[in-house]
Amino acid sequence: MCLEKFEEVRRGVGVLTARDVVERARATAARQAPRCAVLTCSDSRVAPELLTLSNLGEMFVVRVAGNVVDDLVLYSLKFAVENLGVRKIYVIGHKRCGAVAAALEGRAPPPIAQQIKEAAARAGSASPEAVEIENVKITCEKLKGLGAEVVGYYYDLDAVELQRIC
Ligand SMILES: [Zn+2]
Repeated sequence: MCLEKFEEVRRGVGVLTARDVVERARATAARQAPRCAVLTCSDSRVAPELLTLSNLGEMFVVRVAGNVVDDLVLYSLKFAVENLGVRKIYVIGHKRCGAVAAALEGRAPPPIAQQIKEAAARAGSASPEAVEIENVKITCEKLKGLGAEVVGYYYDLDAVELQRIC
């Protein structure tokens, strides 16, 4: 259970209390064994733990603007697979991504712009949504060699829905 919990939360089901968080903080203090890893954007609206009401110790999360992959992202996720036993990595891109918009307007720094421009070229469209979705596919491809299952989603902020991409 990782992103699966999103549908329950979306239906209004689930509770995560301060007491739950403190209890889990104590229970996981000595070691962590997360059920999955998540790579998503730093956007304040796309917090995977909150969208799934996940507690401490459940998700190994890497967040970077535009959910692009560079060496630090790759090594962070590699650590989760090799040292924490993570077997599933979720990639979540999202609608109205500021990093994608900045890259399309030529305002993003090179490490972010490089992958987004590749996504724009592959999407063959100037539509931000098309580029955001293609960007998820590229990120998934870059993580394939890590030895975990990689699954990509697109988060629609308006509909509050996760769409499977790859
Ligand atoms: Zn974003």
